[in-house]
Amino acid sequence: MATVLITGGAGYVGSHACKALARAGHTPVVYDSLIRGHRELVKWGPLEIGDIHDRARLIEVMNRHHPVAVMHFASFIFVGESVEKPDLYEENIVGGTRTLVEAMAAAGVDNLVVSSSAAVYGNPARAPVSEDEPCRPVNPYGVSKLKMEQLLAAAQKSHGLAWVALRYFNAAGADPDGETGEWHDPETHLIPRVLDAALGRDAAITINGNDYPTPDGTCVRDYVHVSDLADAHLLAWRHAVGNREGAAFNLGSSRGFSVREVVDAARKITGRSIPVVLGVRRDGDPPVLVADSARARSILGWAPQRSDLASQIEDAWAWHLKMHK
Ligand code: UDP
Repeated sequence: MATVLITGGAGYVGSHACKALARAGHTPVVYDSLIRGHRELVKWGPLEIGDIHDRARLIEVMNRHHPVAVMHFASFIFVGESVEKPDLYEENIVGGTRTLVEAMAAAGVDNLVVSSSAAVYGNPARAPVSEDEPCRPVNPYGVSKLKMEQLLAAAQKSHGLAWVALRYFNAAGADPDGETGEWHDPETHLIPRVLDAALGRDAAITINGNDYPTPDGTCVRDYVHVSDLADAHLLAWRHAVGNREGAAFNLGSSRGFSVREVVDAARKITGRSIPVVLGVRRDGDPPVLVADSARARSILGWAPQRSDLASQIEDAWAWHLKMHK
């Protein structure tokens, strides 16, 4: 049983990873600035408040808790915001990871699992997209995540860092037990926004463009359950320890759904009317992103349990009702 440092453990995917680690008998130590994370989501181990740019604090925390590995979730996550503020994303994702890797080297911790993204592929020629596809990001968020992976590859050579980058497609859903879930402020992600419209917290869901080259004109994404993502981190950690190499894996359900299909599924599951209005395209949105996750399945042994769209919306809805009623 081991101690693992979880940067961003008070956030959405990070808190689910803490639960998965605790379930497996480990101690997740959360390192979070609480600027975008929530103290209430830290339930499975101690909380150390600190910034990802604070090298001295990171070293001090690692020297006190002696983690055998780090899982790095502390990151800004909004494609739209990254288009408006590219420098902020570069600083947060590339700068933050650089500081973390330096602190790990100083503290003698050499296993790292990081949150990467499907955004590294940009607008891929193929769907589903495998890890062999060239990385040509089309928004600053994807550029920064790709630079982060390159930085880790360099640290592997210079410091012997063992790392795995998990390229999430669209994280969705919530802990099936309702102990944690998605809590962003402001919320820009499709499923929680659709559920806000279902609850009447918003008058309608705005569809960001219907003139994409897709069957119904709206963007197609691959939604993957956050608890399945959390499980993948434990497998990735084992892979990093066993292989001492750097590797990136796609995590998705391998099925794509359009914005309109997500809205229709949410109408069925919630039994509510969900008004829709048509808006303009959001800058930086590729038309289609669907994962080929065969490598994660065969090499990591990843077997997603709840990544069908209905389970994700059901779990997100239960969490949404709990949070907003
Ligand atoms: N989307 C939308 N209306 C919204 C929020 C999102 O039409 O209120 C679209 C968005 O433009 C994208 C898809 O839904 O095509 C998924 O967006 P999300 O922000 O959930 O995730 P992303 O793909 O940006 O990581």
